[in-house]
Amino acid sequence: MRVLFILAVVVVVTGVKRYDGFKVLRVTPKDESDVAWIRKLELQSLVEIWNSLRRSNHPVDVMVTPANQVQVTGLLADRGLDYTVMIGDVQAQLDRQAVAPDTPPGASTAALADFQYDIYHTHDQIQQWVSDMATEHSIVSKFTLTQSYEGRDINGIKISTGVGDPNKPIVWFEGGIHAREWISPATVMFISKSLVEDYYNGVTNVVNILDGFDIHIVPSLNVDGYVYSHTDDRLWRKTRSDLLPEFGCIGADPNRNWPYEWGGRGATPWPCSLTFRGREPLSEVEIRAVVDYLTALRDSGREIKMFIDWHSYSQLWMAPWSYSAEAPLPPDADDQDLLAGAAITALESKHGTKYDKGGSARLLYEAAGASCDWAYATLGAKYSYVVELRDTGKFGFVLPPEQILPTGEESYAGIVAGLEYALTH
Ligand SMILES: [Zn+2]
Repeated sequence: MRVLFILAVVVVVTGVKRYDGFKVLRVTPKDESDVAWIRKLELQSLVEIWNSLRRSNHPVDVMVTPANQVQVTGLLADRGLDYTVMIGDVQAQLDRQAVAPDTPPGASTAALADFQYDIYHTHDQIQQWVSDMATEHSIVSKFTLTQSYEGRDINGIKISTGVGDPNKPIVWFEGGIHAREWISPATVMFISKSLVEDYYNGVTNVVNILDGFDIHIVPSLNVDGYVYSHTDDRLWRKTRSDLLPEFGCIGADPNRNWPYEWGGRGATPWPCSLTFRGREPLSEVEIRAVVDYLTALRDSGREIKMFIDWHSYSQLWMAPWSYSAEAPLPPDADDQDLLAGAAITALESKHGTKYDKGGSARLLYEAAGASCDWAYATLGAKYSYVVELRDTGKFGFVLPPEQILPTGEESYAGIVAGLEYALTH
């Protein structure tokens, strides 16, 4: 009996978390008090909010476990709130997602030529891609940002043509800060390779962009979370740090951990929450590494012109402020808005995908300690954004592989338009 019991426990501990019968419901709040009420349901662990919460009259997507479904739908009916089922069985949706098998380590340029941009990749494959990009292309070099909490290298690439000003302004892209948003690293990799290819092909506007900016790119920043989202829980969001073990919950929300207005609205002090701000600002080594890296570049005299934190989902191109809807918009708000407008117009022209733009906390609820606020206010990046990629909730975090390439193509069109704008403004 004892042996059997131990075996059973081991199976539970090592198994990938399953989401059989979990549903995602789309609830349409009638006013702000309804939204606050839905947030309370989350605090009571009755639902998990999936999308970036928009201000009034926008639907809220919530995941509900099978055990809570009767109670939650009853509560919604009591409050007079309508809902539709967006995803009838989250596990069935997860089962349709494909991850490429691991490529053997050491595979180099051949692997890069064969790299598939229309599937999701493992952590090891992404790191191999980083190395292969640097090996294959003379304008690309590799850097290691730091080691993650669990000791993995966090690698990135620098695209630098060496033409023009040796101290040209810098553009920073980071993907995968939230582990489950798999479309983010995939899109950042597609954008990177497209920039490099178009440069070598002599595409005029891309040549101008890469001769005008050095672009530093980390495709997957929250590497521990990303690995965990493959091995244990596809819907993991946070880091994997264990800095307050007495609470029994792992990880902080890395996009509430930045040292600007840390700990304000939309970030919780509770380690078990999905939006836990961390023990203190920069408690997460992954965020501290970005801050140190970019601060050192700036202090060496380089201008950080653009900073984009790529997320999913909701189809939004958002500028500061994230911490407050009441704070006056930044002095650069007009230019930030014009760049965002140019980007989403170009993006839409590719596949018709519609994005909204604006100040983050005016579109969504406040989120203090977010990357875009720090990058603008402290780092001085004029064009600081958080971009929420596809979709608007039909698949949410479980975006089917068929949408990876179109998302990459349109996002590339958008960012090229944005970078062109930034060259001259
Ligand atoms: Zn995110």
